[in-house]
Amino acid sequence: MYKKNSIPMSSVSFAYLKGGSLTETNETAGTSHLMEHLICHSFDKIRDDLQKNGITVNAGTSEEYIVCHISGIDHRVGRMVDQWADTILNPNPVSQEVFENEKKTVLKELAMYVADPVSRVLRINSVRRHYGIDSPLGTVESINSFGYEQYLEKLEMFRSPDEGLIIGPTYYSDKLDINNIDAIQSFDRKNITVVNDSGMPMVTGQDTPQKVLLWTNKNMISDNRRSAAAKILINMLSSGLNSPMYQEIREKRGLCYVLQGVQRSYYQRNAAFIILSDAPDEAKKVMEEILSNIPKYITKERFDIVKEMSIVEEEKHNIYLYENLFDELRRDLGFVYDAETEGITFEEILEVAKSFDLSEFFFYQE
Ligand SMILES: [Zn+2]
Repeated sequence: MYKKNSIPMSSVSFAYLKGGSLTETNETAGTSHLMEHLICHSFDKIRDDLQKNGITVNAGTSEEYIVCHISGIDHRVGRMVDQWADTILNPNPVSQEVFENEKKTVLKELAMYVADPVSRVLRINSVRRHYGIDSPLGTVESINSFGYEQYLEKLEMFRSPDEGLIIGPTYYSDKLDINNIDAIQSFDRKNITVVNDSGMPMVTGQDTPQKVLLWTNKNMISDNRRSAAAKILINMLSSGLNSPMYQEIREKRGLCYVLQGVQRSYYQRNAAFIILSDAPDEAKKVMEEILSNIPKYITKERFDIVKEMSIVEEEKHNIYLYENLFDELRRDLGFVYDAETEGITFEEILEVAKSFDLSEFFFYQE
C-alpha cells in the first residue's frame, strides 16, 4: 500500500503583457518568441539553484503574452521566487554571440514544428492551443533578419515592464497545468495594443527533414546501486541548462532544440538514452566527444547539484505515485531504484562512466 504524500506543489508565472506576436509586424514575425528565449538567459546565474531545488523552469509565447513559469514543491518555489522574479523583471542584455546562437536554436524549433505533421497538430493545435494559430513562431526570414541592435531596442520593453502580471502561486500538477492556462486566458485583453491583426503570415508546411540522434548505452546495468548512479550521471550530462550537453550542443553551437537524457529500467536491467531532435552530424561529434571524455565535463559541484535535484525529484515522484498504477506496479516489481540515490558518491559516478558504451548512435531521418 502506498500512502498519499501531501507535499504541496505550486507554480508561479509572470506574463509580459504586450509581449506577444500580435505586437509584431510581418517583418518582425516570430521575434517575440525569440525574445522569450533571450529573456530566459537573465536567470543564467541562478540556474544551478533552481535545479538544486528541483524547480521546473519554462516559458512560452502566445499572441498576446510572453509568460515565464517556475513550478515545484511549494516551499522550494517560495525559496527561489524572489530571485527569479528579480531576473525576469529586469533582464540583462546577452552578448552578440549568445544572441546569434539563440537565433539558431529558435530556427531549429521552428523547423521542428513545421516539418513534422504530427508535431504541427499535437503541439501547435493542442498543447499550444491557447496560442491560436502558430503565428508566434513567425517565419525563417523575419527571424534571420532580426539584428542585435533591434534586439537591444526591443529589450527595453521588457525591462521593468509597466504592464505585466504575476500569476500564482497556483496549485500545480505535473499532469496538466490547467490552472495556469485558465488564468492566462482570463486576462483582460483591453490593454493590449494590436499592431497587426490582419492575419500573420502563417507558417506553412515545408519540406524540412528532421534528423533525430539517439544514443543508447548497450551495456545494460543490472545492479541497483550502479543504476541509480547511472541515472545521476545521465542527468549530470544532459539535464538542466548548465549541463555540459545543453551548453555545448544547444547554447554554444545552436545545433538542436530538444535534448533529453533518460534512464529507463526494463525487467531489472537499466539502459541510458540521450536523444537530440533535428541534430546535424556535428551534434553527434560533440556528443561523442563528451561521452568519451566524461570526467572532463563533470565536476563534484555539478554532482552535488544533480544529486540534490534527484532527491527532490523522488520527493515529487512520491506525490504522484499512488495516482499512477503503472508506476506503482513498477515499484512493486522492483524496477525503480531511487532508494539508492542518497548514498551515491562522486567516485561511483566516475566508475559508472567507464561502463558507457559509445558504439550505439542512431540517426533517424524523417
Ligand atoms: Zn521556444
